[in-house]
Amino acid sequence: MDDEPVAGAPEDRAFRDLTPMSERLFAEARGYLPGGDSRSPLFHQPYPVALASGLGARLTDVDGNALLDLTGNHTTLVHGYGHPAVLDAVRAQLSVGTCFPGTTRPQVHLARLLCERIPSMERLRFTNSGTEATMLAVRAARAHTGRPRIAKVEGGYHGTWDDVMIATGPATGDPAHPPAVPASAGLAPGARDNVVVLPFDDVEAAARLLEEHRDELAAVLVEPVQGSAGMIPANPVYLRMLREMTSRHGILLIFDEVVSFRVAVGGSQEHFGIHPDLTCLGKAVGGGFPLGVFGGRSDAMAAFDPSGSAGPRIPHPGSLNANPVSLVAGAVTLELFTAREIERLDRLGTRLRDGIGEVLARVGVPARVTGLGSLFGIHLTGHPVRSCRDAARGDTELRHRLFLGLFTEGVLIDPRGVGSLSTAVGESDLDAALAAVGRVASRWTGEGGPSATKTAATASRTAAP
Ligand code: PMP
Repeated sequence: MDDEPVAGAPEDRAFRDLTPMSERLFAEARGYLPGGDSRSPLFHQPYPVALASGLGARLTDVDGNALLDLTGNHTTLVHGYGHPAVLDAVRAQLSVGTCFPGTTRPQVHLARLLCERIPSMERLRFTNSGTEATMLAVRAARAHTGRPRIAKVEGGYHGTWDDVMIATGPATGDPAHPPAVPASAGLAPGARDNVVVLPFDDVEAAARLLEEHRDELAAVLVEPVQGSAGMIPANPVYLRMLREMTSRHGILLIFDEVVSFRVAVGGSQEHFGIHPDLTCLGKAVGGGFPLGVFGGRSDAMAAFDPSGSAGPRIPHPGSLNANPVSLVAGAVTLELFTAREIERLDRLGTRLRDGIGEVLARVGVPARVTGLGSLFGIHLTGHPVRSCRDAARGDTELRHRLFLGLFTEGVLIDPRGVGSLSTAVGESDLDAALAAVGRVASRWTGEGGPSATKTAATASRTAAP
């Protein structure tokens, strides 16, 4: 995100006034960390906020500003910050050991919980991140099928390893045939050749591409709700087509549910009624600690079994794999994340999405609010948003002003305009958030309306942050 023309906007000035300590810490951090941090999407202009503590749905930054948190650390904390039951479980585990050179009861307990919640997960393994989970799921698919390439969807984000850092944002050109654009410098030279990119919202075009490449594809990897692209749920018809075509051609269907798991007890695959071959989890499943999971069909997962005389077909070492601190935090988190709680969050999510849409419509700001369950994405565009290309047509300058404006009103969303609700959020928090959106947007009307604001803004950018 560049500095113009948001710099100098009232929201930018108000943000700077409230955050002198964040600014100072950022300057210091840049002396040691490129960009001052270790997570690129957290960066935003004029400088990212530095956070000091969190409790429930409240965060406090280093300047002492209190914030209603609508991010949950980017969908990780389904119960908010410092849930007492999670902290108790972690403290109990800390007192007996943080990692061991052997399996543990917490590992078996969480594995059983997950297999019970997700019927397609017959066997699973634990990793430290979602990135490792998708990498190993794809490796399992290649080992199982003996085929070299994978198909992924344009705009899909699956972590930082080479084959999935392709086409993570919208490209230009024929939407029916998205190019395999590297999303990072330094990828292995063959990475883009390993990937067939499918359009997200075009059933016929995606089916054509799958048919064309069917004999070389080990897996189709898809987020049932595209997270980084702007919380865009897949069309169920599209997912059913993927299931049908992959089954027909012996390709493994991998659901990346790192973000979407939270929409139902058994993840979005329960919501959509689709049984993938493999599933990847992360974020929420570790209850705020590093944890990833990949699993699914026992025949494909058998490649990780080291007990045969030849050892595992796929070795899976990892010094901190299945560390019990993450496992107990994850287990308590899931035990508390009941169908009832999820239904309550769904209602709050619907109210928030509808409410933001109504508030912005009232002040004449064209907007679409996407999402599912407790997930939401705000797109400042009058066009329907069904893909990352649609999302990129939104006014990103104005969205950034919304992000900064909400911060100054005491509400934190992701700088990319997305967010999620935790079980710590209540109806009165939603009232406050919607009122804050209204106050921020009505100031734009005072400037002469969103069209005047838009003249001040450059054309909206096409690259997803
Ligand atoms: N898949 C999806 C859908 C994600 O959103 C993310 C993280 N944002 C990942 C995979 C990677 O997970 P991690 O950050 O734990 O490596």
